[in-house]
Amino acid sequence: MDRQIDLVIVGAGPAGLSACIYGSRAGLSTLLLDNGAPGGKLVKTHKISNYPGVAEIAGTDLAMAMFEQATSFGASYEYGNVVNVDADKKVTLDNGDTIHAKAVIVATGTKERLLQIPGEKEHIGRGVSFCAVCDGAFFRKKDVVVIGGGNSALEEALYLTQFVNSVTIVIRRDVFRAEKNIQAQVEQNEKIHIITKHIPKEIVSDKGRVSGIVLENVETKETQTISCSGVFPYVGQDPISEMLQGLDVLDEKGYVLVDSNCETKIAGIYAAGDVCQKTLRQVVTATNDGAIAAQHAFHQITGM
Ligand code: NAP
Repeated sequence: MDRQIDLVIVGAGPAGLSACIYGSRAGLSTLLLDNGAPGGKLVKTHKISNYPGVAEIAGTDLAMAMFEQATSFGASYEYGNVVNVDADKKVTLDNGDTIHAKAVIVATGTKERLLQIPGEKEHIGRGVSFCAVCDGAFFRKKDVVVIGGGNSALEEALYLTQFVNSVTIVIRRDVFRAEKNIQAQVEQNEKIHIITKHIPKEIVSDKGRVSGIVLENVETKETQTISCSGVFPYVGQDPISEMLQGLDVLDEKGYVLVDSNCETKIAGIYAAGDVCQKTLRQVVTATNDGAIAAQHAFHQITGM
């Protein structure tokens, strides 16, 4: 199948949904594509409490509200796994379908980075999880380990405490990367224990399910095994930008380079949200990018 659309948005997280609101409301024929449920990381986030005007909201509720608004101005939403975007703004899906767009906004976000240690991949779904919100309830009254000291690790550790017996957070330095207010909540929570200056070396199992994790002291190189039923790695993110690899618009880590209009150096190809090279990855900065990209695309397409 081959189609013509004014604006194709790849990714239905906050950036893509915001772009969809601005593009379709301005009158562009707009197609929103995603290879998963709409909402992006919002649907994996327990609570959002730093989105202006909304004191606190469940991630899934904000995702649904954004999605309903984004599709209320005539945009189409379809499942689609985009494998390539070329310089002529031809979007190719993994089933071979192509869409010719006047502008493309890539808002694909990031994916969780793996620990890359033995026992990790083979136990995903058997004790290794990258989503506390999705899987936390499976670990009721169990002991779990969270790896990492960023916002994601600490927020998810706090979320897990409502189900589990204990959460052990393992960090490789002796300081957290997360914001101070989240650190304070973690330090006050009696269910959370912290192990500093250790890195994970192996996830071990019993009868096919996670039973522990081997940690190595970064200074002494001594190892110890912590018994646990679950391991939640939160060691950062990598951009989902493979579809742009042919265009020379990525930095060395794969993040998309854009200007203040969220446009790449190729006219009509934009990026918005976490997939961009930027310093602050938040829901509010993602929605900001989506609005800017779509508004600029509108001006470019219509000449208005
Ligand atoms: P992050 O901020 O990059 O933190 C990654 C953590 O994992 C760091 O503590 C890092 O240690 C550790 N780490 C990395 N590789 C490791 C390894 N191989 N072994 C052990 N530990 C390792 O990632 P994130 O928490 O996923 O957050 C990503 C972005 O989203 C950030 O910009 C964050 O601020 C944002 N975010 C914001 C919110 C919020 O505002 N509420 C929530 C979630 C995420 P070092 O510190 O030693 O490098």
